[in-house]
Amino acid sequence: MTDVQTVRGPVPAEQLGNTLMHEHVFVLGEEMRQNFPDFPDRWDDDVRVADAVEKLRQCASRGIATIVDPTVIGLGRYIPRIQRINEQVDINIIVATGIYTYNEVPFQFHYTGPGLLFDTPEPMVELFVKDIREGIADTGVKAAFLKCAIEEPGLTPGVERVMRAVGQAHVETGAPITVHTNPHTGSGLVAQQVLAEEGVDLTKVVIGHSGDSTDLDYLCEIADAGSYLGMDRFGLDVLLPFEHRVGTVVELVRRGYADRMVLAHDAACFIDWLPAAGKAAALPNWIYTHISDDVLPALRERGVTDEQITTMLADNPRRYFSA
Ligand SMILES: [Zn+2]
Repeated sequence: MTDVQTVRGPVPAEQLGNTLMHEHVFVLGEEMRQNFPDFPDRWDDDVRVADAVEKLRQCASRGIATIVDPTVIGLGRYIPRIQRINEQVDINIIVATGIYTYNEVPFQFHYTGPGLLFDTPEPMVELFVKDIREGIADTGVKAAFLKCAIEEPGLTPGVERVMRAVGQAHVETGAPITVHTNPHTGSGLVAQQVLAEEGVDLTKVVIGHSGDSTDLDYLCEIADAGSYLGMDRFGLDVLLPFEHRVGTVVELVRRGYADRMVLAHDAACFIDWLPAAGKAAALPNWIYTHISDDVLPALRERGVTDEQITTMLADNPRRYFSA
């Protein structure tokens, strides 16, 4: 059986247990935080770490054994802080490598790469593979999956460059992939096409944020190509209300797709994109415990069985991370 890399070291895949497949601990602009520490909220490292420990303990207390954190470059990945938190709370945290952009690549890649001023092989591939094989920076923590994004602007040159690099790193390492997509622009299908061109095994791909859509034709097309649907924004009710999110999962289960869905909130202990008080008021359910406390009971009420819930919450994540 495969060992899966986590912040605390390798864990056998069969021990991952109930897994939330897309949760951030922090989403931060690290450069912003260091230079404008009062915007949008005062940053205090000790306070934020203690808050994260408490929120992750709440999550674990519901029987969640693992969270999968796709915070990569562009979202403020900083592993030493995650290690400090994980020392104080008993939960598996699986971390990622990759780049999060809707448009261009970071400037550090503008002049270096195939056909550029400094004409080299794609440096992203080497960086991603190193994170997976050797570990992230000098933390000793290895990334266990790859992440990229394709949003409303579609397959821009920068988005395509990152996506192909992610695909190549997958082919080299076998690490699975999560893609942030916008289902309303059909970008999950574009991601599948580009990744397939790179030789990616589409059964090792989560098409993230598919749960923002109720378009069953679109969702079934993605699932029929083999990928997992990320029903992963429970609590983000401004984008799609609770009843629609739940109803879509129920209908897909009824059609036989329980083995093609994974569940999560895409929540964070702290995200500097929104003022904290405003976020808490506008999105009270955008927290790690909403699925356990509200979504699973609603699914059961509508006929989803415990076995089907286990498929989505434990079996699919285990298969995704197993070689
Ligand atoms: Zn996310």
